[in-house]
Formats: sequence, C-alpha cells, structure tokens
Amino acid sequence: MATPLETVIAAARDLLGERLSTNATLREHHSHGQDTQPPHLPDAVAFVETTAEVARILALCHTHGVPVVPWGAGTSLEGHVTPVRGGITLDLSRMTRILATSQEDMDCRVEAGVTRDQLNTHLRDAGLFFPVDPGTAACTLGGMCATRASGTNAVRYGTMRENVLGLTVVLADGRVIRTGGRVRKSSTGYDLTRLFIGSEGTLGVITEVGLRLHGIPEAISSATCQFDDLRAAVETVITVMQSGIPVARIEFLDEVQIAASIAYSKLTGLEAKPTLFFEFHGTEASVAEQAAQAEAIARDYGAHGFRWATDPAERAKLWQARHDALWAALALKPGYQGLTTDSIVPISALAEAVLGTKADIAASGVTAAVVGHVGDGNFHTVILVPPGPEGLAQAWELDKKIVARALALGGSCSGEHGVGLGKREFLEQEHGAEALAVMRSIKQTLDPRGVMNPGKMFLN
Ligand SMILES: Cc1cc2nc3c(=O)[nH]c(=O)nc-3n(C[C@H](O)[C@H](O)[C@H](O)COP(=O)(O)OP(=O)(O)OC[C@H]3O[C@@H](n4cnc5c(N)ncnc54)[C@H](O)[C@@H]3O)c2cc1C
Repeated sequence: MATPLETVIAAARDLLGERLSTNATLREHHSHGQDTQPPHLPDAVAFVETTAEVARILALCHTHGVPVVPWGAGTSLEGHVTPVRGGITLDLSRMTRILATSQEDMDCRVEAGVTRDQLNTHLRDAGLFFPVDPGTAACTLGGMCATRASGTNAVRYGTMRENVLGLTVVLADGRVIRTGGRVRKSSTGYDLTRLFIGSEGTLGVITEVGLRLHGIPEAISSATCQFDDLRAAVETVITVMQSGIPVARIEFLDEVQIAASIAYSKLTGLEAKPTLFFEFHGTEASVAEQAAQAEAIARDYGAHGFRWATDPAERAKLWQARHDALWAALALKPGYQGLTTDSIVPISALAEAVLGTKADIAASGVTAAVVGHVGDGNFHTVILVPPGPEGLAQAWELDKKIVARALALGGSCSGEHGVGLGKREFLEQEHGAEALAVMRSIKQTLDPRGVMNPGKMFLN
C-alpha cells in the first residue's frame, strides 16, 4: 500500500506532470536557504503556476498529513525554507505575472513569485516604484510578505507591513481567501492581511499580493561621510532621526564592513572608518534642505569627507555596494560562512546596543562586521564562521549576547529577517508566554494538522 507521502507525490505528479520533481539536484537546491542551519532534503519539489494548483496540493498535504514548505527564492537567512520534516517544497518562483497596475490609485496586484526588481522595471515608465528593498534582488514579493521584510528604504517608506494592501492566501486545507482590498484604510474585521505578513509559510500560502506604490521622487541625493569615532557616527543617526528629517535611507557601516566593501565593490575615496550612507528624496528644494540639515548635524559630531552623489550611476554603485555588504564581508575570509544577527532597538538605545555589540565582538575574538538600517534602530552583525562545529557554536554564543542586550533595551531579536529556525528560542522572552500561547492557538486553528512549514517559528 502506498504511504501518505507516495500518495501525495503521485497525485501531485498527475496534476503538475514534470513540474513535480524528485530530481536530486533540485531537491538539494531546495534543502536550505542562505543560512548556517543544517540542510534537509524535501522529498519532492512542486513548481506551481496557479492559485488553483496551490490549493489542490495543500488540500492533498492536509488530507494525508504531509509537510509542505513554501519557497520563493530561498534567500531567507534563518533556516526558514529548510524542510526539516521532509515533504513537499512548493516553489512559487514561476508565478510571475503582474496582474494589474493603477497609476491613478498608485497600487498594483502581482503573483507571489514576482521579484521586486521585476516589479520596479515594470513600473518605471509609469513614474512609480515599490520601495521595500531587501539586500538581494532575487527575493520574491510572496517571500517578502512571509518574512515581513524591509530594507534600506524602510525608514521613510515602511516595511512590507505598511506597503501590502491585500493578499490572496491558500489556507492549509486548500480553501482560498482574499484579505484586505485596495483602499488605504478600512476598519472592518480582524486584520487578516497583517496576520499573514510575517507568518513565514506556517499558516498558508500567499499566491497574490496587492501593493501600495509610490511616485519616483523628483530629486534624489545620496551622500557618504566618515567618522574617527564609532559613537559619533551612531549619535549622528540618533540626532538626525530625533530632528524629524525625513531621510529616505541612513545606513551605518563599521570600519570592518566599509573596508570589506571598499575592496569588494571597488569604492573609492573612503577609508576604513565608521561610515554613514545617506539618501534624501523630494523636490530639488526639499532635498537640498534635508541634506544641509543632516550634514550640519554630522559635522557637529566630527564627520568628515562628505561626498555627494546626485548622478544616478554613482548613486546606484553606492547602494549596490550596500546591498552587497554580506558578500563583501564573506570575501574577507574565504571558506567561512556568515551568521547574520538582526537585532533592533528603540532609536534612543542605538548607541548602547552598537557599542555593546562591538565590545562583545572584541571579547569573543571572532571577525565580524556591523552594518545596518540604523535609522530604524536595526543593525546586523555579520559573524564570520570558520568551518567546523566549534566556530559555529562560538558564533551562536555571540548572537545570543547581542539578542539579550537588544531585548533588555526594549528591542526585538529580529527587525526584518524573521524567526525561522534560528530565532525560535528568543520568542517567548520577547513576547511573553501568554502571547506565544495565542500565536500557537492561531497556528492550531489555521493548520490543525501541523503540515505548513513545520518546525519553524515555535520550538517543538
Ligand atoms: C545578501 C542578502 C541580503 C538581505 N538583506 C535583507 C534586508 O535588507 N532586509 C530583509 O528584510 N531581508 C534581507 N534578506 C533576507 C531575504 O532576502 C528576505 O527574507 C526575503 O524576504 C526572502 O524572500 P524569498 O522570496 O527568498 O523567500 P524564501 O527564502 O523562499 O522564503 C522565506 C519564508 O517565507 C515563506 N514563503 C515564501 N514564499 C511564500 C509564499 N508565497 N507564501 C507563504 N510563505 C512563503 C517560506 O516558507 C519561508 O518561511 C537578505 C538576504 C540576503 C541573502
């Protein structure tokens, strides 16, 4: 008699034909994301193309109790996509249709496998853009919803939480629901859209996403400046934010990260010193005013070497270097892995959090770069992990110290990467046992058989 898994694979093959694969290379590709968790193979990979196909496969998995792991591009950083209990990996990367765009209402509806780069290329001629920009262009809008992603622009435009208007979601048992709508606000019912934003594939599969769009600003100006002292760089950020200057981007790179980025991205005119990258959006006049205010604050804290980039190619090079920060840090130690922390604190606690992290790095003796979306109080430590279990254990110890400080300062263990496998142990401390119990009961209600991305978000 066929096992439940064999039954599901046979039925999925009837539905998808060659788009249901048990090919070893494809299974290996879907056995991990961009993380340091041990990989685990799915039993099969299903390349779905429609909401109806997703619904059919989820209904099958629900009926037979077979795990199913949604997959966008596999760029997540906390073991989110590792099928720790095997089963079917549901790859949505072929769902790439842009379904509707409205210039008048500044919104659009896309399938979950559309990437942010694909969307922005499509929007450019309409004078619109979608601002949320995780550091990798490959990630999908479905994956970005599922991890509640953000990026360098979040300080001005918000995260996926603020920029998603509505969703189409296939529930664990195959039912299809639409959440939200096209309006900018509504006070009807529970906010199911936000329930699925950040649900990491544990509650259902997002197949369509309705998004808010923004007008491409008339003027954009970027700048870099450097400091002899790390505290001065961080204090500059705090003062800029507290002054209410509407910066579009404000990123911090410590001396290790900027040295790595200079080498990797061939940046010129910068030294290995704590550095800020700024960007301002608006009219010519408002950008000039914002830039002057921020520069004055930075100079008060001893910033030097201000360099302004208004030329699009120069700006693109600068922000590509910021997006490539992880690869640049990894290039410092060939053969090492990167464990990336993601803590976030209230802006007033940023100096304490970053300086404490630097002290922890020095005490641990590891090589690590600090880089982050500091305007939100969010920063990453890219810990370079040598091959072997000892190095990984040491890196996790450092990660725990950084998280403990962030939580003690009223922050969160993850500003944007999510929980996956790597951050599960911090959830109870961050949210409290009662709130965690409510989260578990939501999971139980929507996925009573526990087939949706099992093992993620919650310990056990
Ligand atoms: C170099 C680099 C830089 C990065 N920088 C940032 C950054 O600045 N900000 C940031 O937020 N993140 C960043 N990330 C992390 C990553 O890009 C984001 O987490 C991204 O949102 C993941 O998208 P994805 O399509 O690759 O999703 P995947 O990795 O495929 O999946 C992520 C999670 O979402 C679930 N999922 C995927 N698609 C769906 C769907 N359609 N429905 C339901 N669940 C789904 C998966 O099961 C999994 O739990 C970075 C990663 C790298 C490698």
